[in-house]
Amino acid sequence: NSFYLMKTIAIIAHNGKKAEMVQFLNEYRNVLESKEIRLISTGTTGSKAETAGFEVEKLLSGPLGGDAQIASRLAEGKVDMVIFFRDPMDKHPHEPDIFMLMRLCDVHNIPLATNPATAKLLIEAF
Ligand code: PGA
Repeated sequence: NSFYLMKTIAIIAHNGKKAEMVQFLNEYRNVLESKEIRLISTGTTGSKAETAGFEVEKLLSGPLGGDAQIASRLAEGKVDMVIFFRDPMDKHPHEPDIFMLMRLCDVHNIPLATNPATAKLLIEAF
């Protein structure tokens, strides 16, 4: 039953990394558009993904609590993988939320890719 095979992937990209996220999504469109995969995202990242033609559940924008919402779902066991293209060259007002999300990935042993090279390895392993 495909319901039990459903995997939820959370995608988040900081502003300096949104173009790379769209490029990544396009590269793995075949996998990411399969029926077994559901995408959730922070607000602006989700809008970019929608523009690229993906179906995605958009939560709040990162600085307004989107990362925290994803972290909350993850803690409830509702997220199976996180692809989070962080921008190491920028400062973020919601840095505590970013660290919370990454910490909860480790608490719950959820795969977390913080750059495209790792994300590719994870998706190819799917
Ligand atoms: P955004 O949030 O997708 O709404 O830009 C991402 C972030 O800044 O963490």
